[in-house]
Amino acid sequence: ELARLESQLAAEYDALADKGLALDLTRGKPSPEQLDLSERLLSLPGEGDHAAGKTDVRNYGGGAGLPELRSIIAELLGVEADRVIAQDNASLSIMYDLLTFSMLFGTPDSQRAWKDEPVLRWLCPVPGYDRHFNITEALGIEMIPVPLGPTGPDMDEVERLVSNDPSIKGMWCVPIFANPTGAVYDDHTVSRLARMATAAPDFRIVWDNAYVVHTLTEDFPKVPDVDTLAAEAGHPNRFWQVCSTSKITFAGAGVSFFSASRANLDWYLGHTSVRSIGPNKVNQLAHARFFGDADGVRAHMLRHREVIAPKFEAAAAALAHRLGEYDVARWTRPEGGYFIDLEVVDGTATETVRLAKEAGVALTPAGSAYPYGKDPEDRHIRLAPTLPPLAEVETAMDVVGLCALLAACRGALAD
Ligand code: PLP
Repeated sequence: ELARLESQLAAEYDALADKGLALDLTRGKPSPEQLDLSERLLSLPGEGDHAAGKTDVRNYGGGAGLPELRSIIAELLGVEADRVIAQDNASLSIMYDLLTFSMLFGTPDSQRAWKDEPVLRWLCPVPGYDRHFNITEALGIEMIPVPLGPTGPDMDEVERLVSNDPSIKGMWCVPIFANPTGAVYDDHTVSRLARMATAAPDFRIVWDNAYVVHTLTEDFPKVPDVDTLAAEAGHPNRFWQVCSTSKITFAGAGVSFFSASRANLDWYLGHTSVRSIGPNKVNQLAHARFFGDADGVRAHMLRHREVIAPKFEAAAAALAHRLGEYDVARWTRPEGGYFIDLEVVDGTATETVRLAKEAGVALTPAGSAYPYGKDPEDRHIRLAPTLPPLAEVETAMDVVGLCALLAACRGALAD
């Protein structure tokens, strides 16, 4: 029976492979249609429009960024406007800075620079974002995986680890529409993260709100004010929150933001003022003009949703069509963000990705959602359906489903 299914699937696979497909589901990039939604930005702020209050945006200075834009983002994050600073185009750069500044100089709560600590460890909810893990790996910080469920990381495990080990200096978190599972941390999880006792006095949580307004439904997620929660619990400097307009306007030419306690912001700006005389305020003014206000951002995000929600639906339908009748795979149905996490039969993710590649569908390498690229179960595959046109998403997902099934079948036959 199984052998018959395998030969049937293999025949179908060979026919597909002969089609010479060239499809790409690797990276969470906005599609050209999404970029077009922000085309007007290319003409902003426009000739003659360069004053924001007393600031001439064309000149040096203003390290914390333009108040006009900061207040819009502050409203979206639910924090005071003076608790958000605006920087250049990538929140990943802010995250890299936060960790490197800590390594070189220590945080305001550190006894010494992190580089002078004998061992450094970092908690990594998994599956997670590969570029986060690249930063900690590059800096020689040992990564400890913690399971991530649909409402947040395994908090019993997190509390157990951080309360005992002072070398654990921090944790990566994507609290809303996590990359790649779409998980949204619930209130209880957020409260435990804010309150938990840590052995390290300078413990930090990188609170990466990359998808804070990136809804796939009509509703926007509730955004917890983590700084207030942490301050109430006696840990005022615990959270480093970041976000950006990379997937709101232009991924290569947006604005990034950092929100934290006054002490954290002053510390950060103290170091950035040494490496730059100020961020690109012309682009910040352009963004302020483009959005108008926080509701302008929300309205804009609903237009993104119109473009990408059908792709997520098509992806789910294709996977269900191909895999629904077999008990060999599960996949997430995110309500926002950019990714679907596909879980295949243990030990077959690498083979599924290989088969897909041979058939002309590029996927992120199996294991990439894990520290050091190692998924111990070889089970997770991150799928990114936003970039290709709708019809290609359908075809590519069908190929992925077929490959997962074929790999499962061959695995079972080999046992
Ligand atoms: N954080 C997460 C969770 C992401 O998924 C991404 C991009 O995929 C980024 C950050 C990158 O953000 P930026 O473009 O602001 O550097």
